[in-house]
Amino acid sequence: MDAMRGYLRKNLLWIGFGAVVVPLAILLVLQYRWLTDLQRASADATRAGMKSTAVAIAERVSYAYGKRVWGLFEKAAALMRDDGGLDKVAYAVGRADLEGVRRVFVATFDEQSVAWIHRFDPATGTFRRGDMDDEMAAIHVAIAPYKLMAWAGAKVERPEIEADSKSRAFPMAVYPMTDAKARVRGVVGLIADVDYVRESIVPRAVNDVLEKYWGDDAGTLLVAVGEENADPIFAVDGWDPAPGEADTWAQLPWMFSTHYVVLKNRAATPEELANASFATNLTLSGLLSLALVGGLGLAIRTAVREKRLSNMKTDFVSNVSHELRTPLASIRVFGEFLGLGRVRDPDKIHEYGEYIESESRRLTQLINNILDFSKIESGAKTYRFETTDVRDVLDEVLKTFEVRLRHSGFTIRKSIVDGPISTVSGDPDAIAQALHNLLDNAVKYSNGSRTVEVAVEEGSRYVRVSVRDHGVGIARDEQDKIFERFHRVGTGLVHDVRGNGLGLSIVRHVVRAHGGKVTVESEPGRGTTFTVHLPREGHRPALSG
Ligand code: ADP
Repeated sequence: MDAMRGYLRKNLLWIGFGAVVVPLAILLVLQYRWLTDLQRASADATRAGMKSTAVAIAERVSYAYGKRVWGLFEKAAALMRDDGGLDKVAYAVGRADLEGVRRVFVATFDEQSVAWIHRFDPATGTFRRGDMDDEMAAIHVAIAPYKLMAWAGAKVERPEIEADSKSRAFPMAVYPMTDAKARVRGVVGLIADVDYVRESIVPRAVNDVLEKYWGDDAGTLLVAVGEENADPIFAVDGWDPAPGEADTWAQLPWMFSTHYVVLKNRAATPEELANASFATNLTLSGLLSLALVGGLGLAIRTAVREKRLSNMKTDFVSNVSHELRTPLASIRVFGEFLGLGRVRDPDKIHEYGEYIESESRRLTQLINNILDFSKIESGAKTYRFETTDVRDVLDEVLKTFEVRLRHSGFTIRKSIVDGPISTVSGDPDAIAQALHNLLDNAVKYSNGSRTVEVAVEEGSRYVRVSVRDHGVGIARDEQDKIFERFHRVGTGLVHDVRGNGLGLSIVRHVVRAHGGKVTVESEPGRGTTFTVHLPREGHRPALSG
């Protein structure tokens, strides 16, 4: 149970990551499938929307005649049945709304079924017989079935308006007039005004329907109305559809049934539109998921870092406590010896005194490191730059090391340029502290070797101070990390030396503040060289880091 809880706590981050990423992946898959369905459906829906537009346009065209014609025909038929005669019909026709109508005619059949055809003359307001012409021929053709019915004595119980589109020039509607016994006695009919249909009815129908169905998007559609294999009688932007080019079509009903309305989206076919919206939706979902996973990744990274840092801080506290304890214990023991007054030998007294001093220095150095680190972290660390000869600073540092090194049998080999050397603009205390940290490390990680080499040399841009040891060395992949605060190369296998992980981070900060850089060369098991590069005074550094 506890093991499980421990496992959960340890892997909480990854469990949380999985808890978000797995459902997200499932959602993405579901959304993908839903989008493919939608893609299919939306192409069909677009096509259906266009189809219903075409149908609506077609219906509007014939609707423009429908009601008026129906009323007029019924009235004419009733008048004729009641023996009202052609004059009364003429009167009714004369008062009717004949917009878009080229001709109204009445045909009556006599006993021998001869058709007497009268055409309405708007000028005189009467029906007149006329000579045979194209129009008359078309009328004869249209009424022929009714003539036959009259001859055969066929009954028409429920008369209906019939459209006749056999003649291109004279689209017609005809209506049988019956007597009391429902026998056909004649026909009333009209011929549509083709020009008017082309110039007024069709454009109005197209505009009305587009506006109603498509609103602001009406401009995306191309519309044409016409007969097959003929120039369109109406076309948006002069569109003359090639065969198969239209997205959808509808047949005009009734007396214009040889005409078709065809429609096309200017920019894309319904499938292309559906593909485009599919792609957009999928991209958006993808981006959203990426942002989510990215955000999560960042959060986890931050959390992992925080956790690592907090572990490091915990280690730091225990490391510092130990580091403080050792010199304090030495100081106490030597202090007690001296305090008891048992040590008389002046050499011993001198030696103990030196011990106490050197251990106190270590303590001071340690505390300085911690204080400086906290100043650096809070941005409060300041430097007092002055013209400095790094050799003087190094001498001072080595002097404070002497006692400690002498007692532990270390030799320091110096290779320092004689004579004049460029000065640097630096804070001597800060530089001293950095060099002290490097020397301290060289001693700490010496792993039994007892030589440390220090060198000072001058390059074209920098004055360089290097500290070389022949100790444990640093693995390549650690060489960058060791400069991070609290970072220590794993103890045990590599080394068992106490420390707090602040030394090198302070070195780097100090050197960078001087416009310089610190580099490391190392081979595990063979030793390490740290080099501090400080820009020569008056030389503007081109590099930092
Ligand atoms: P510490 O207090 O641990 O010495 P530093 O910041 O001074 O902290 O060093 C960080 C780590 O770098 C050390 O823990 C050690 O593993 C490694 N290191 C530093 N100097 C040397 C060196 N001269 N030889 C080998 N390893 C070193």
